[in-house]
Parts: sequence; C-alpha cells; structure tokens
Amino acid sequence: MKIGTPKEVMQGEARVAMTPDSAKQLQKLGHECLIEAGAGEKAGLLDSAYEEAGVTVVESADALWSQSDIIAKVQPPTDEEIGRLSENKTLISFFWPGQNEELMKQAAEKGASVIAMDMVPRISRAQKMDALSSMANIAGYRAVIEAGNNFGRFFTGQVTAAGKVPPAKVLVVGAGVAGLAAIGTSTSLGAITLAFDVRPEVAEQVESMGAEFVYLDFEEEQEDGSESGGYAKPSSPEFREAQLAKFRELAPDVDIVITTALIPNREAPELWTEDMVQAMKPGSVIVDLAAEKGGNCKMTVKDERIVTENGVIIIGYTDFPSRMAKQSSLLYSTNIRHMMTDLTPEKDGKVVHDMEDDVIRGATIAHGKEVTFPPPAPKTK
Ligand code: NAD
Repeated sequence: MKIGTPKEVMQGEARVAMTPDSAKQLQKLGHECLIEAGAGEKAGLLDSAYEEAGVTVVESADALWSQSDIIAKVQPPTDEEIGRLSENKTLISFFWPGQNEELMKQAAEKGASVIAMDMVPRISRAQKMDALSSMANIAGYRAVIEAGNNFGRFFTGQVTAAGKVPPAKVLVVGAGVAGLAAIGTSTSLGAITLAFDVRPEVAEQVESMGAEFVYLDFEEEQEDGSESGGYAKPSSPEFREAQLAKFRELAPDVDIVITTALIPNREAPELWTEDMVQAMKPGSVIVDLAAEKGGNCKMTVKDERIVTENGVIIIGYTDFPSRMAKQSSLLYSTNIRHMMTDLTPEKDGKVVHDMEDDVIRGATIAHGKEVTFPPPAPKTK
C-alpha cells in the first residue's frame, strides 16, 4: 500500500506524521512511502532526508492525497481534506471524535476508514501506539522548560562567590503522564519539587522521582480519587476544600506551579484560584497544561502568556508538543508505525483492518461506510 503524509494545514502546527526513520520501518512492512514537499521542514526534516530514506516527495497536497491509500497526519482533517477521502482510503490522525461528530459522519459517508490516534485504548498492549501519552510526556517536559524560560532565577540552589542562591520551589498539580514528566524535568534541574494528585497510588511514583508528595489535612484517609483505567473522578466537596486549603498554604512559598489536572470528558477542575495567584510572589510562573479544557486556574488565557497585576506570569499555551516539533514528530511517527505494524500482520504491504482486534477496533471511528464510534470496551488489558 502507499502511505502518504501531507503538510499540516493547521496554523502553527509544526509536527509531521512521518519521519525518514519511520518511513524506513514502514517500507520493511512492504509499504511505499510518499510525503508532500516541505511537510517535515518545520520539524527540521528536509525533503532530501526523506528521499535518502526511499520516500517519494510529491509536489502538492492534491497529488499526495490522490496517490496514497493510507494518509497519516497529525491534526484532524479539515473539510477540504475530508473531501479528498474516498472508498478504499484510510486516514490515520488525531480526530477527537466526540468533538468532531460532523466530520466523522462525512468521512464515513465517503466510505473511508478512519483511525483516530486519540482513541487508541490505554491498555498495556497498545502502549507503543499511545500517542496521547507520547505528546503528554513532551508537554510536561516543555512546561517546565517554558516556566524556566520565564522565571528569572535558577532552578537549582547554588553557593557562589557572589552569594547563596536558594533552589526554586515547583509544585506540580496532577501526576498523570504530563505531570510525571514535569516532575522528572523539575527534579533533574535541581528544583525542590512538590506534587499532588487525587489518586493516592501515584504518591510512590512521585517520591521515587525525588519529589515530595503533598498529603492533605483530611480527617478521613486520603480519599481515593481514582476511577477505572487510571483516570481521576471528581472530588467530594470536603476533599476539594482540604485540597484548596493546602494549596492556599503553599501559594506564597512556591515559585512555579505546573497544573495538569484533568478528569475525562469534563471541564478541568478549578484548583489554583485567584486568591492563590494573588498570594504568589511577583515573578512566579504558572503553566496551565489544562488550558485546553478551561484551565485549572481560571485566570489562564488559552494560548496566551499573561502577567497579572501582582506580577505573576500565567502561561496557557496548548501547543507544547508542536513547540518541540522534532521530538514530537519522532515519537508520533513511531506510534503510527506501530499502528501500521498491527495493520500489516504479514509484513507484505497488505492492510488487514481487523475489527476483532481490540486496539484496531477501539481506534477505528469510521469503517465500511459506518460510524464506528464509540467503540465497545476492550476485552483485554
Ligand atoms: P489525565 O490527563 O486525564 O489527568 C492528569 C492527572 O490529573 C491525573 O493523574 C489525574 O488523577 C489528575 N487529577 C484529576 N483531578 C485532580 C485534582 N482535583 N487534583 C489533582 N490531580 C487531579 O491523565 P493521564 O495523564 O492521561 O493518565 C492518567 C493515568 O492513566 C496514568 O497515570 C496511568 O495510570 C493511566 N494510563 C495508562 C496507560 C496504559 O496503560 N497504556 C497509558 C496512559 C495512561
């Protein structure tokens, strides 16, 4: 089959779904690879590198879409891109089907198969295709780097001839994939790192990374905020109050707050309130990784960097993976390559769209002219 990757058309998107390395692996599965000229440029991947890897560079999006059987891209398709789909074509990209129902219906009507990388079930076997985790890892790392770039001091403490420098104090709220990456980055830069999550089972992971888990002054045992599948459920009002009281106590003391707290299919919980922002020292930085879902801090402005009246910087960027386009493209293209490996069981260039396979079924949102979202729960772990 011919697998093609077009240039991303969304403003500001710098990632690319195929790299020269992933193309070599796709060719080992018996596929031919195509790329639109310039598609990898923003990620530092030149057409010449693709050519050296045996990829055919095609000049236009039209040519790329018409010649490819499988189109691998990053962002959900635009209306124009949906128009380029047809029967016997498969699209692989992030899709967010819950938010893009109309697009999904149109793709199904076109007879195309659509694999949504954001719908890969989060089961052990599918970890290698888990693009959400790959991107969350990068976002967590980059959030700390961004905070450091905006913070006027070192992360690590130093004793210099010119004086003693105290270490920065970083609080990470939410210790999922992005939060743990932020914790790892922050501790490796030498900051005193505190972290909190409603799922008590992550305390051990946090501590093993050299950070301190924040325990609450909560009368009953620390409430278990875990839902099935490792996700969080909304907190009880009492627990939430205890959490906010603890954060209020920490606010004047911390220099950097990275918030990553999310609950599936809901707006992000408000955890860093206005009075906490006001209690922070001037020059402190908040990076709100929940900005896409309304923010853990309601003062966050999505996709912007603002400075509050008391001199606190709040960063609400939602494109951290794209800001590290090369790294993101390397990981995302590897996730796609693993998906293609499962779709090509005989490594003979022939795609078998096995709807009995948990992972393929879970990620497929359109197939055989039908919308196949939402999927049934996976049978395996
Ligand atoms: P997420 O992005 O949905 O949420 C981020 C974090 O915010 C979670 O750790 C959640 O507990 C936390 N949170 C929610 N409300 C909070 C609050 N009020 N205060 C503090 N923290 C709050 O989660 P995620 O990072 O995508 O993943 C969460 C977990 O899912 C992982 O830690 C892991 O256990 C599991 N997971 C499994 C796989 C797999 O098996 N393939 C892959 C990825 C994730």
